[in-house]
This record gives sequence, structure tokens and C-alpha cells, in this order.
Amino acid sequence: MTKAPTVVALIVAAGRGTRAQSARPKQYVPLAGAPVLAHTALAFLQHPEIDRVMIVLNRDDHALYTQEVAPLLAVSGTPVSTCIGGETRNISVKNGLLALENTGVSTVLIHDAARPLISAELISRVLARTVEGGAAAPALTLSDTLWRGRDAQVTGAADRTGLFRAQTPQGFDFASILSAHNRLTAPATDDVEVARRANLPVAIVAGDPDNIKITTPGDFARAARLIRQKTGSPMDIRSGNGFDVHAFCPGDHVTLCGVRISHRQGLLGHSDADVALHAITDAIYGALAEGDIGQWFPPGDPRWKGAESAVFLHHATTLSADKGYRINNVDCTIICESPKIGPHVDAMRDRLAGIMAVPRTRLSVKATTTERLGFAGRGEGIAALANVILIKSGEG
Ligand code: MG
Repeated sequence: MTKAPTVVALIVAAGRGTRAQSARPKQYVPLAGAPVLAHTALAFLQHPEIDRVMIVLNRDDHALYTQEVAPLLAVSGTPVSTCIGGETRNISVKNGLLALENTGVSTVLIHDAARPLISAELISRVLARTVEGGAAAPALTLSDTLWRGRDAQVTGAADRTGLFRAQTPQGFDFASILSAHNRLTAPATDDVEVARRANLPVAIVAGDPDNIKITTPGDFARAARLIRQKTGSPMDIRSGNGFDVHAFCPGDHVTLCGVRISHRQGLLGHSDADVALHAITDAIYGALAEGDIGQWFPPGDPRWKGAESAVFLHHATTLSADKGYRINNVDCTIICESPKIGPHVDAMRDRLAGIMAVPRTRLSVKATTTERLGFAGRGEGIAALANVILIKSGEG
């Protein structure tokens, strides 16, 4: 029985990348919510034809990798290991290859950590051609005219025939590329160049224009945009729910959604007992995973005695905005036998719109009885339910 070939992705993440002008190495700069290196590694870890991933790290980045990247890679069942790179890219790749020597690797795909947009299709394309011919790498043809120039003046045009823009991953028969690296005597620009010096023929496969190499600060914005397009979920959408009950007590009015309604009883509570605003406020805190109204405004605190509940809703709304969310819509149901809610619904929606700065067309208030069943049906109090959707647009 022959053992299935073992395909390894060797990700080179040891460079210093000073051109991205960041306080940290560009491989660790967050992109659409995760470090660049995590995107790159996951593309290979989640590919069905990749058996193992080896990441070559800079000696100084080990803590950053362990804290910020490694935990994100655990979602995949594919094994991932690391080794330490060297002063140059050539040395880093060679260290990675040596770390894989004698582990049964048949094929290696060598990829730059700074290309996080590598697609599954391109990985498959490079791998298929590598298995077929021993070495393959992706490249793009040139569509722009090439000029020569000096001092910002065009001095001539260059022939673009036969020119390609090289990308990674570059795929090789493992033993051949290891041997080529072992024999390397002068620096080579990439692994295709290393292979060519050892007289290994390298096939060109069609590259992917989205497989960009992050180099400048502007590349991060472009990469974030491409990731949003690829994932198809450009927004962070959160729903929350809230529920509250207050008992009736002696009084002459109730306050619901900030609207005072004459009634033969009042509602018992530390604040103005606006059960509807409390439910909506809790729904927002819930969507934000920020606790509940009782944690933000403890009922024992004398500051909130008799307080207008609009203060609480305003706080939750502001917290949501501070975290980058807008309130998409609210749906609130008030549950009671009396007072009649219907005549006050328009005023309630207007009041909510004023407190939350959300158009009233996105604010629903409705009411129901419980057919005289339960505490609400017996007229012992009022309950309210609320649902809210918060949306944060993708910002990379
Ligand atoms: Mg309450």
C-alpha cells in the first residue's frame, strides 16, 4: 500500500515589512478583525488538499503569534507547526524546509504571509500543476503599458511581451526544492528563482488579481474591501431581546414608552417604572452583550429614584453608537388588559424616535392582552417585550 502524498503549505512570516508603516510587523496588523497572518494561514488550513501547515516566524514575533494568531487557527483540524526564520527570505524558507525534512512531505506550497487573499481555487490550481510537473507558480499577465522614465518624464516604452507579475504560492516537489535551496550560493528573489538555478522547470499557472501582497498602508484598506466582498457578510448584525414586568400600585397614571397615560392605578418601581422603555433598553444591552439595565443603573442607587427611564434608553443608545452600531429597528409589545394602548401608539413612537434618534418608521409599538389569563390578565401589572437589531457596517 502506498502512502498518500503529504502536501504542506510553508508560510513565510519572518519579514519585517517596514513599508506598511505600522508599529507592529504587517503580518500581525488586524485586517477585517483578525491579524493578516491568521487570514493567510486559515486559507491553507481550511483547504481540503492541504495536510499540514508550517509557519516560519521571526524570532521576535513568537509571543505575538502565540497570543494573537495561534488561538484563531484552532478551528481547523489540520495540524499547524512553526519554526524560526533567518535574516533573509531565502534563509527563512530553507529553515522551514529543513524543519519538514524526513517527515514524509511530498509536495510543498511556499507562500508569503502578506498575501492573505489567497483563494482556495488558486491553491488547487497551483497544487494540481505542481503534482503534474514538479513545480508551478501563479502569475498575472501585464495589461498596462510599460514605460521607461527619468525625473518624472517618460523616456520610452518597454515591450511587455513575455513579462509576468509573479505571485505565490509557488509549488514544488519537496525533495527537489530542498536540494535546490541546499545548493543556493547567491541570494534569489523567490523560490522560482531558486528552482531555476537548479535547472528545475517551473510551469506558470494563471494567478489571481485579488491575491495582492500587502505592502503599503493603502493595501490594508483594499484587502479589507476584498475580504468583505469575498465573505459576503459586510456587516456585523446583532439582535437583542428584553423583557420586563412592573406591578400596579395606587396612583393616577402610568408611563409607557415615555408617554404619560392617565389610569386608575400607577406602576410600582424605583424609577418611573416605564416597563416598555426598560424592555427596549435591555434589548439594546443584550445585543451589545453589555449586561442589563440593573447593572448599569442599580435599583438601590438613590440617583435613579423617580428617574425618567428615557435616561436609561439614552445611555444604551449612546453606548451602541460608541461601539459603532446603528439601531436598525425596534419592535416592542406591551402586554396588559388596561389601559388601552392603541390610542397612544403614535405618541409612543414619536417619543422613542426623539430619545433614540431613529426614524419612527423603524420603531414599532404594539399591544396585546392575555385573554384575562395570568398576572397581566388579572390586572396585577404590565409586561413588555422588545426586540432590537443593531448593525455595524464592515470597516475592515
Ligand atoms: Mg423595570
